[in-house]
Amino acid sequence: MKILSLIFFFSVTSVFAGLVQAPPAFEYNNQKSIYVDFQSVSSVLSLVDANCVANQSQCEIQVTSKVRFIQLEFGRPLFDLVSSPDESFIDGFPVEVSEIELPGSVSKVRRVEASLPPGFYDLTLKHRFTENVSSNQGLEFGFWYLDLVDRHFLELYLPTNFEFDQFKLRVTLKFPELNSSDYRVFSNGEVNPLGEGLWSVSFPSFYTASSPYLHLFPAKTKKIQYFNLESMDGRTIPVTSYSDKKNSATLFSKKIAKMFYTYERDFGPWPHESFVGYQSQSGGMEYPGATRTSYFALDHEMLHSYFAKGVFPANGNSGWLDEAIAKWHDYGYPRVNAMCFDGGELGAHSVYERKTDSDSYKQGGQLMAYIDYLLSLKGTSLKQALKKFFVENRFKTITTEDFVKSIQKNSNLDITALINNYVYHIPVSLESLENEYGGHLTSNNSYQCFLWKMRYKLIKW
Ligand SMILES: [Zn+2]
Repeated sequence: MKILSLIFFFSVTSVFAGLVQAPPAFEYNNQKSIYVDFQSVSSVLSLVDANCVANQSQCEIQVTSKVRFIQLEFGRPLFDLVSSPDESFIDGFPVEVSEIELPGSVSKVRRVEASLPPGFYDLTLKHRFTENVSSNQGLEFGFWYLDLVDRHFLELYLPTNFEFDQFKLRVTLKFPELNSSDYRVFSNGEVNPLGEGLWSVSFPSFYTASSPYLHLFPAKTKKIQYFNLESMDGRTIPVTSYSDKKNSATLFSKKIAKMFYTYERDFGPWPHESFVGYQSQSGGMEYPGATRTSYFALDHEMLHSYFAKGVFPANGNSGWLDEAIAKWHDYGYPRVNAMCFDGGELGAHSVYERKTDSDSYKQGGQLMAYIDYLLSLKGTSLKQALKKFFVENRFKTITTEDFVKSIQKNSNLDITALINNYVYHIPVSLESLENEYGGHLTSNNSYQCFLWKMRYKLIKW
């Protein structure tokens, strides 16, 4: 028995390495709450009331999901789903699912209220949601996320694990009341029409809770363009570019092509099989090989197909890095030998934190500009270092430490003290940082900082 257990644990810990980045288990109401490893999620979506489209009333979507997961220790499994499930079963037996607070009240999650031994389990859930569902000109809904707001990823729509985990997702859209020819289903997964009002969408197994892009809408409500881009590695990348009627799809498509070739030149071949760009009114959110964005933030969001959605942040404390890189791009990749703030806490939050620190843009962008300066003293650049970091970690979930190690290994630059001071809120005397790295870290009133602040004022997104 003991040998069998050891073999079992050895094999699962090597295969299911995702749990290495999971937060630690914790007690809640005297019961141990544990993070688990999702293998797959399969969800079927349909309408609660088939007449809501014709009546133009608020449509409610009902979902039946089957989650296959493994847990490596005894305890009550954690996952998330914002809507309270109507029904829940473990391996076919009814089970209670409650909403509990994470330690420090940093967020809420769902917990299966059954203490289970290690093993594989099937969790079946039924729930409903209305988030981002409309019936104004026909049925429309999309998986829209926000990374600066807690619980605004896939959990708004489907049961999901947390960002440390990567798992297969298959979504079946079952809307027999719709004429397929009047609708479009755009996704960064593989869309297969199965019949009238019936589609299946399969997402790659390296996707995380903030990855699946899915948008169903009446075809008449958007301008749509399809074209191909030739990747530097010889692949043909199909592009779907679409916009709300009032916007120009042509200008948007031209910018997609321009940024595609720019990023291939800077960071290597386009990481994904396709690209879907939806031009909406303002702001933007990134997905792997997809974005919903304004025209002006398109380049920022496309860069995230490399950093954020080509390598994925494993948790809220790692989310600062990709926003720092994207903001550094927005600034025009500046190189500065000054830091205009004394320290920061971009990645210093609770290990249970799930959202990205909102200072990641302004402070993180400047930190990247300073790291680029330090790398120039070594005869290289941050762009070159990021390209290597990307190749080494493509399609993996990463933490701040992975970034620090990559810079050390490839460029022989130890940024530990710098990251401690500006990311982990472990204050180091600025004089000692200056002695270690050079530059003018305390020169808040310098001409460099004046220029920096002007630049930040001009570029706001
Ligand atoms: Zn961003």
